[in-house]
Amino acid sequence: MIDSGSPRNAPAEAMHGLIALDGTPPSEILRRGREQVRQYGGRVVHGDVVSAESAAPSADGDLRFTVTLADGRRITARRVLVATGLKDVLPEVPGLAKHWGHSVVHCPYCHGWEVRDEPIGILATGPASIGPALLFRQLTEDLTYFTHGTDLDEDTRARFAARGIRVIDTPVTEIVDDADGALAGVRLADGQVVARRVLAVVPQMQARTQGLEGLGLPVQDLPNVGRALASGPDGTTEVPGVWVAGNVTDPVAQVGASAAAGALAGIDINKKLAIADTDAALQGIAEGSPQGPQKDLESRKSQPVTCSSHGQSSDSARPPRPPQELLMPYLANTPVEKMTRPYARRWWALLVLCLSLLITVMANTSLIVAAPT
Ligand SMILES: Cc1cc2nc3c(=O)[nH]c(=O)nc-3n(C[C@H](O)[C@H](O)[C@H](O)COP(=O)(O)OP(=O)(O)OC[C@H]3O[C@@H](n4cnc5c(N)ncnc54)[C@H](O)[C@@H]3O)c2cc1C
Repeated sequence: MIDSGSPRNAPAEAMHGLIALDGTPPSEILRRGREQVRQYGGRVVHGDVVSAESAAPSADGDLRFTVTLADGRRITARRVLVATGLKDVLPEVPGLAKHWGHSVVHCPYCHGWEVRDEPIGILATGPASIGPALLFRQLTEDLTYFTHGTDLDEDTRARFAARGIRVIDTPVTEIVDDADGALAGVRLADGQVVARRVLAVVPQMQARTQGLEGLGLPVQDLPNVGRALASGPDGTTEVPGVWVAGNVTDPVAQVGASAAAGALAGIDINKKLAIADTDAALQGIAEGSPQGPQKDLESRKSQPVTCSSHGQSSDSARPPRPPQELLMPYLANTPVEKMTRPYARRWWALLVLCLSLLITVMANTSLIVAAPT
């Protein structure tokens, strides 16, 4: 897993909306996640990917990719899962960006409860701001919708009026802070300041694809939302061997949905690898090699997933596990075998005992039956 370590929700103090982890700081979720990946033998590499592309296939025709990091390290992989998230592009209003993730929010399910009953403003960026206005109205009686140069049709104005949502069409020129630096309101083009403690903004959401262009993944424009990588079921893409998951393909996915997408893609990748390994083993047999499958395993052993720096294997590169360890845990010296042997001996002893008893009983029975005659 290669990660530059700047997740989208980093500015937020805590993550909400995912049962059992509600209220956990994003940094803590990352820490636990990395620890758990390492517990299963996964390798976590801190770094920025600057290029990723297909490489020459392996000797048995399996796919290969080369991923290059900003510091020059190169990683070879059999398959690639892109989960680089997205970049939120905020409207250019002076003073807005510094409150992002605190008093400037975008999602009622992420931090809506925390800002309930506050005077909230919706800083509109387009039609995509209308839905969130109705959602934030559930959380406060004091909601103002700043159209900020965007169109708002009469029907929507009537619906807003019915819910007591105030609409202001004068453009916003800057965000106003109080003496402590907390958000205090917005200044309008006519100089008027409208007091607000919280602003909700729907940003443009742009998939983070910088450095991944070499993979040739199709990008799609999402009207009023932004840009995302196109994907099919289980995060599959048009590019064989490359999967996508999370916000890079689904901008509205929260943490739970993004993690679930990663799990589904991971399962699909694993299934495809198992099929590829089996195909290669079969091919080895068809080629008439007396040790077909073993030859396949050896060739894979000689081409492990590697992490190298300027062509040299880095210290952090994990040595490949021997094929027996990977594929045949029931062979010699495994815990399974150690467990089986004593039980087998006991079964033999029991069988011999039963047979002796049976012979004795039969002999006695014959005697009893024979006695009267
Ligand atoms: C302010 C804010 C608060 C939020 N609060 C919540 C919340 O409370 N609950 C909730 O469910 N959702 C919340 N979200 C949404 C949540 O952030 C996303 O759903 C989630 O982060 C998506 O996960 P992801 O793995 O797709 O992307 P990310 O979490 O953004 O992870 C992408 C990772 O890829 C890495 N990366 C990107 N490009 C490269 C590269 N070239 N090389 C190496 N690494 C790279 C990044 O460093 C990052 O670590 C919030 C969003 C924001 C903006």
